[in-house]
Amino acid sequence: MTRFDDDLVYFDLLFRQPRRHGKWRPVEAPVLGVPVADTHAHLQLLASPPLALARAAHLGVDFLCTIVDVWEDGDATFEHLEQWQAQARALLGQLRALPAGESGPVLLPGQGLAPEGLPAVAKSGADAEEPPLLSPGAVRIAVGCHPHNASHWDDALEARLRRLLADGRVAALGEVGLDYHYDFSPRDAQQDVFRRQIAIAHEFDLPLVLHMREAHDEGFAILEEEGFPEAGVLLHCFNLDATEVRRWVERGCYVAFGGPATFKNADEVREAVRQVPLERLLTETDAPYMTPEPMRGIACEPAHTIFTAAVLCAVRGFGLGTAQAQEFLAQLYSNAQRLLNRPRPLA
Ligand SMILES: [Zn+2]
Ligand SMILES: [Zn+2]
Repeated sequence: MTRFDDDLVYFDLLFRQPRRHGKWRPVEAPVLGVPVADTHAHLQLLASPPLALARAAHLGVDFLCTIVDVWEDGDATFEHLEQWQAQARALLGQLRALPAGESGPVLLPGQGLAPEGLPAVAKSGADAEEPPLLSPGAVRIAVGCHPHNASHWDDALEARLRRLLADGRVAALGEVGLDYHYDFSPRDAQQDVFRRQIAIAHEFDLPLVLHMREAHDEGFAILEEEGFPEAGVLLHCFNLDATEVRRWVERGCYVAFGGPATFKNADEVREAVRQVPLERLLTETDAPYMTPEPMRGIACEPAHTIFTAAVLCAVRGFGLGTAQAQEFLAQLYSNAQRLLNRPRPLA
């Protein structure tokens, strides 16, 4: 996986649609009227996690689950998460104080990962209203060995995973599964590591976050053999059709939709959205990947959840801003909370 180091990050609260020759035009944010959850983002792969959190918090993302790969991601998320939130609180005060239409400085590429890479900001005076996303506990972590990295699995990696899973901020084991599109690890290694991690999810009584790419038959069969963890199974980034989604929801799986549900040629994915029971439907981004319409062409960020949420409303036949749409989105939000925001003893 790559970080999007080359993206310029604008220090403001606008959405910018990329045009040719480095030009952009502003995009109006859909007004949902209720909070949404980003159930799958790779915060530490973003150019600036604190800025991404500040923007998401401002735009109505109240809960987030960030994904850590046990082999390639290091300790940044576990070490810096609370700092990122604190920095985001300070940034948000400054962003909201910008005169309308005026952007602040552009962060230089590669400066954003460590909190000390951001410009120093004084804490804003009025901290009366603290956005929920920036409060302690509103960002949970899923950690696991991605199928891309299955060939690196060994006893030491398993020990590291077990140590990280004991952290009270961890809400799920993932993302794990099979990726036969890229085949970055041999398929037998992918299957073996998937089986091992299903067993660990059972042991820790944690939900499993699944990454399945061109391997749904084998992935489903392995889960049947090893048992679907009782704490829940989340099939992330669903981009197939109504026929495929059916067996997963019949087994009680949660299904999360992100950017692919918004793509212009993705009518079959939207048909799948209609097949998922209301209490199993989730929103996500997979930021920095899978940027939804109309923002395609730039790195995805958690704030983009609202574009996908707006599309899900439309697909289910609810006009944006209506009471039915708000009720629908509130159900999606509570699904995310139920699955991914269970309290755990702090390690
Ligand atoms: Zn994935
Ligand atoms: Zn992912």
